[in-house]
Amino acid sequence: MARGTKIVATIGPASSDLATLKRMLQAGVNVVRLNFSHGKAQDHIDRATLVRQAAAECGREIAIMADLQGPKIRIGKFENSKIEIANGDKFILDADCGMGNQDRVGLDYKALPRDVKPGDVLLLNDGLIVLIVDKIIGNEIHTITKIGGELSNNKGINRQGGGLTAPALTAKDMEDIKTAMSFQADYIAVSFPKNATDMEMARQLSNIAGEAYGHKPMMIAKIERAEAIPLLQEILDSSDGIMVARGDLAVEVGNAAVPALQKRMIKMARASNKLAITATQMMESMIFNAVPTRAEVSDVANAVLDGTDAVMTSAETASGKYPVETVEAMAAICVEAEKFQECKLDADFLNQTFTRIDQSIAYGALFTAYHLRVKAIVALTESGSTALWMSRHNIDIPLFALTPSIATQRKVALYRNVETYTLPHSSDREAVLKSAETILLQNGIVTKGDMIVVTWGEPMGQVGGTNALKIVKVGDH
Ligand code: PGA
Ligand code: MN
Repeated sequence: MARGTKIVATIGPASSDLATLKRMLQAGVNVVRLNFSHGKAQDHIDRATLVRQAAAECGREIAIMADLQGPKIRIGKFENSKIEIANGDKFILDADCGMGNQDRVGLDYKALPRDVKPGDVLLLNDGLIVLIVDKIIGNEIHTITKIGGELSNNKGINRQGGGLTAPALTAKDMEDIKTAMSFQADYIAVSFPKNATDMEMARQLSNIAGEAYGHKPMMIAKIERAEAIPLLQEILDSSDGIMVARGDLAVEVGNAAVPALQKRMIKMARASNKLAITATQMMESMIFNAVPTRAEVSDVANAVLDGTDAVMTSAETASGKYPVETVEAMAAICVEAEKFQECKLDADFLNQTFTRIDQSIAYGALFTAYHLRVKAIVALTESGSTALWMSRHNIDIPLFALTPSIATQRKVALYRNVETYTLPHSSDREAVLKSAETILLQNGIVTKGDMIVVTWGEPMGQVGGTNALKIVKVGDH
């Protein structure tokens, strides 16, 4: 059963062997996320190698997303790796503390005591622990525990309402960008960007680091700060896509605000011809259980209906007990939800004017395919842009990006409703159209006599410039 919504799976200790990875890819993973908040550079390099190997053995192109740690503020480590704090307990966040204990713990962001004031609400471990700032004494933040629980090494800290001033790209992020470019990560996810400038800076650094490899990654802005919400449009304009990073976002804006924000963000991303990933706790209970909860099933299905390009797993596949089952369950939910998605193609274009020839061809192909009820829409593309524009609209006809570029194949792995195959390079139009048909026939997508809509740019073999559209009856040569 064809699935349009893509799956981004974070890998980690539970999924870093070839056999598990291959099973995850076969279950439907399209993009593998390497979380640079954990592990050393070499761990990510090794995992990237393993992912490329697994993908090659499965005969598919998979994108790798390097997710930078960003300025996430974290507590230090504890002598016994964790403590239990109770409601009402006094607890000190101490920038000068070495190993933590029952009374206090260290901070990786030494300036935090200058950023907070008495009365501030600090949320630890994604909001599971709530501390109220009582007073600041030098480098010590004295707090009273409002909601206690287990607190373990390196858990994150957020302030309710946002506004902590740590800069968006840390020295570690800049090093990690170089590591990620050494294995040509297809996507870079930037954590905690505040504005367009943060994204532009990250892109510039990534392009410089990628230059030696002739590689330019796609940039994803993780929307997880309160300050980013009013600047969403400028952040979108400076990025290739966004991640609805519900973990940190919920802590900063309050979790009740997140579902509506998710809908607004996905809608804005699509309207801006950008990508959207919905992330965090989608299948959380599958860290321990072989089946998801009803609420998780609904969450994934609703993200699909919101129009997300991809749904994402975090700990479920990185450190959970059921990485393969999680992907299988997600894939099945996506397929079912997609049956229910609305297609309003004509309304999408009503009274619109287009300024670009390539974009007009992309929309013309959608319109023609939709009204002629063809079997497939096929974009012969170098950069993948035609496929991106087409994929921003709901249509119940599959899109295929056929391209000679491996880098393009990998990046379109994230685009909703787009599948990709390698097209041999040629400037002979008839030969290229013929091989496109052969690819679709060989992969069982069409049979002789089916109609398809094909787009391409003439002269062939150059980047950009889609200017042609043809309705082809397969096998009519
Ligand atoms: P993280 O980002 O997993 O890197 O924290 C996602 C989120 O905050 O939701
Ligand atoms: Mn986050």
